Amino acid sequence: AKFSSLALPQGMIDNLDQMGYLNMTPIQAEALPFVIEGRDVLAKAQTGSGKTAAFGIGILAKLNQRNFGCQALVLCPTRELATQVADEIRTLARYQQNIKILTLCGGQSIGPQIGSLEHGAHIVVGTPGRIADHINKGTLDLNAVETVVLDEADRMLDMGFVDEITKIISHTPYDRQMLLFSATYPEGIQSLSKEFQHEPETITI
Ligand code: AMP
Repeated sequence: AKFSSLALPQGMIDNLDQMGYLNMTPIQAEALPFVIEGRDVLAKAQTGSGKTAAFGIGILAKLNQRNFGCQALVLCPTRELATQVADEIRTLARYQQNIKILTLCGGQSIGPQIGSLEHGAHIVVGTPGRIADHINKGTLDLNAVETVVLDEADRMLDMGFVDEITKIISHTPYDRQMLLFSATYPEGIQSLSKEFQHEPETITI
């Protein structure tokens, strides 16, 4: 299926063309209509499936560039993945002017991150430990968040991040959209979904 079958701005479609994204991957074809509608999605998806664009396109489609509160939060298990995800969203956002995407991960000093947050960011991508640190310090306000993404959620649980994830999601509005991507569906993923998702659409590729 083609991206042009979706309710997306023409600039986004043109940019996807330039990126060489001509047809949707299976996860994109299944998930994007629900993601764009604002529904919660629980998706079983592996690395390499095109899952980053499946949530990145959805985040960008509803973003309000004039509102500098954090509107989308993406949690990733590692700094490497967070960096890749932020890079991909930056490329997807090329057609939109002045979209600020901030990466907040551990292993880097927190001071410059706090400085960047003071200038505002539309999208924050990071690891659960560091994002939780910013919440504790009061340096990250999640009240304007419209979409939360858990990327490779099973890996984050394996790494012992369940308390941080729970705390972080609890600081976002109740009616936010939540997209949960996981390669496997262990018990912990099912309980996260039950606790925080509202009538999720379940997708298995
Ligand atoms: P991901 O699973 O998000 O890590 O994506 C895997 C790779 O597929 C990345 O290199 C993407 O740039 C690429 N990709 C994602 N969606 C598409 C698409 N619709 N057409 C072609 N390549 C894609």
